[in-house]
Amino acid sequence: MSSVRVTILKAGHCTCPEHIAIQGGRWRNIRFPAMFALIEHPRFGPMLFDTGYSERFFRETERFPNRLYRLATPVTLGESQTAQAQLAARGVRPGDIERVFISHFHADHIAALGDFPRARYVHLPQGYAAVRSLAGWRALARAHLPGLLPPDFAERGDPVDVAAARALPPEYAPFTSGFDLLGDESLLAVELPGHCTGQMGLLARTESGTTFFFVADAAWLMRSIASNRLPHALANLIFSNPRLYRLTIEKLHRFHVQRPEVRIIPSHCEETLAQYAG
Ligand SMILES: [Zn+2]
Repeated sequence: MSSVRVTILKAGHCTCPEHIAIQGGRWRNIRFPAMFALIEHPRFGPMLFDTGYSERFFRETERFPNRLYRLATPVTLGESQTAQAQLAARGVRPGDIERVFISHFHADHIAALGDFPRARYVHLPQGYAAVRSLAGWRALARAHLPGLLPPDFAERGDPVDVAAARALPPEYAPFTSGFDLLGDESLLAVELPGHCTGQMGLLARTESGTTFFFVADAAWLMRSIASNRLPHALANLIFSNPRLYRLTIEKLHRFHVQRPEVRIIPSHCEETLAQYAG
């Protein structure tokens, strides 16, 4: 069994009304930071979980219809806040990144994929299958901007072998099956469906004995998981499957109650990121 070192970072943010993000939330805008994580493995080198926003997001949303994406979720991203800039500040060059684990294909998670020239792109195949043939309005309706994917995405894609799903140890209940991504149990992927098809969560065991559970957009706020509270019903309009979304939050809630020591990281929860960001 190996372990990894985890640094939690964020590349830009957008804003969203709190009462949409969670039922009972206030009528004010809150920040949705775009989290990504640097994961360093003793043998496999530096890797990323998602990438946050990048300059490319602004280029891709310059014209209509994609401009609607930018208008719906106004994004702030300083030059020094991109994944590339923050990694450089830590001595990690773009070419050092071996793999990017993609939670799902929404713009705020994949905008910087093209900045890492050697990386393999690890994802659940059903997630990519759901967006690969979409263009124009149909892509936009699924929060997907195809221009964010590097032209050689298909060659560098490393879809998880779904036939290799394995039973997870009982301590991960109610999550019962997952994928041992590196073959040494340091990184376990778990499907978290509902927000979109094939969303991939990641359990990372660190050298200090802490386990992180990156849950992407399975819940927008940790409060949702802690209290099993859903977003406003309007949010169902953008979820691929509201029933599965509800079941996934319920599972995360049960997991959190049983394993409060595991650090669950929803990608857009500013409070959680303030607690653990590196
Ligand atoms: Zn997101």
